[in-house]
Amino acid sequence: MTTLFLIRYGEIALKGKNRAFFEKTLLQNIKKALRDLAPCRIYRTHGRHFVEVTEGDATAVAKRLQEIFGIVSISPVAVADLSLEAIKAAALEEFAKVARPGIRFKVNTKRANKQFPLNSMEVSAKVGAHLLKNLSGLVVDVHEPEAVLDMEIREEKAFIYTERLPGLGGLPVGVAGKGMLLLSGGIDSPVAGYLALKRGVTLEALHFHSPPFTSERAKEKVIDLCRRLAYYGGKINLHLVHFTEVQKELRLKTPERLMVTLMRRLMFRIAQRLAEKRGALALITGESLGQVASQTMESMNVIERVTYLPVLRPLIGMDKHEIIALAQKIETYPISIRPYEDCCTLFLPDFPATRPRLQQVEEAEKALDIEALVAGCLEKTEVLTIEL
Ligand code: ATP
Ligand code: MG
Repeated sequence: MTTLFLIRYGEIALKGKNRAFFEKTLLQNIKKALRDLAPCRIYRTHGRHFVEVTEGDATAVAKRLQEIFGIVSISPVAVADLSLEAIKAAALEEFAKVARPGIRFKVNTKRANKQFPLNSMEVSAKVGAHLLKNLSGLVVDVHEPEAVLDMEIREEKAFIYTERLPGLGGLPVGVAGKGMLLLSGGIDSPVAGYLALKRGVTLEALHFHSPPFTSERAKEKVIDLCRRLAYYGGKINLHLVHFTEVQKELRLKTPERLMVTLMRRLMFRIAQRLAEKRGALALITGESLGQVASQTMESMNVIERVTYLPVLRPLIGMDKHEIIALAQKIETYPISIRPYEDCCTLFLPDFPATRPRLQQVEEAEKALDIEALVAGCLEKTEVLTIEL
């Protein structure tokens, strides 16, 4: 049996002349996501995408579609030829699947095809009457229906459905340029990456590690997090930056209480260089306001000065419990809470400055050969391509 899904993508329709590009990108993303799932025919017509599952698990296809950014909702639909008789017959068959005695229902018709001889009110009335005649115990209720039979009369066919499964919304990944995600092994940055993907950003990820102080397992963890993001965003290049030298230098040559600030300034400098190389136009972090020493407004100000790139912080307005709830939903949480060593917690001072002063920070940096440190890190960067 074949199942046909109608795909809705609300926000895209608002995007004026970008529309064709958005639609094409979404279509490609759907094709990629479904490639290994089931044999499908995927096509676009009259402002709608359709996925026809010819064999295999249609429920799994539906679930996958519900997790592709840009899709607002999907409906399994029945198709009828453009005659009232055909539409009535298909509507009855569809509605019989959800009908039960006493159920309050209404019929809703959209007529995109103005050639169709009856207007939408007339179609709804005729089909409603047909249902009432053939299914026992139905109650019409246009204000608070428990079930709705929707019909869309389009150019060549009519589509009939009773179900609307919500999608993730957002924009198709690939329509909003590329961002470089600073991905730690923590809870926050994977969620930040997810939210950037939601707005159509293509991601590359960057992780700082400090072997031998950080282990292979810490690296595995970041790879696993990236794989979860690849579920939503397609293939992701993960840059693993060897950060040990930087940390050793900082520890040797700079005041302990400024270490966090200095380390993060170096991270941003390196991230900017990688972004330039990879064509990324923004950095993305999992920072929120006020969590830790490096995330006060004063710290962010001093840290961000080293880069001209916009630093996007998708979590800025979220509380920790909201971030955790989202991490659980996208299944990064169990990976993030695996015990591991983070390079950021190595050699850390007991009392980091929460209000670092720019002048002091710049003064402290004079003890370092910043350019050599950055170049050294870039040279030792390893790139992995992470796919689902
Ligand atoms: P997270 O849960 O994402 O680790 P956090 O609340 O622990 O965030 P910090 O440790 O201050 O906060 O890090 C702030 C942000 O800096 C992270 O969200 C991430 O974007 C980036 N970051 C921190 N450590 C690393 C790392 N080792 N590699 C890449 N980015 C990092
Ligand atoms: Mg962290």
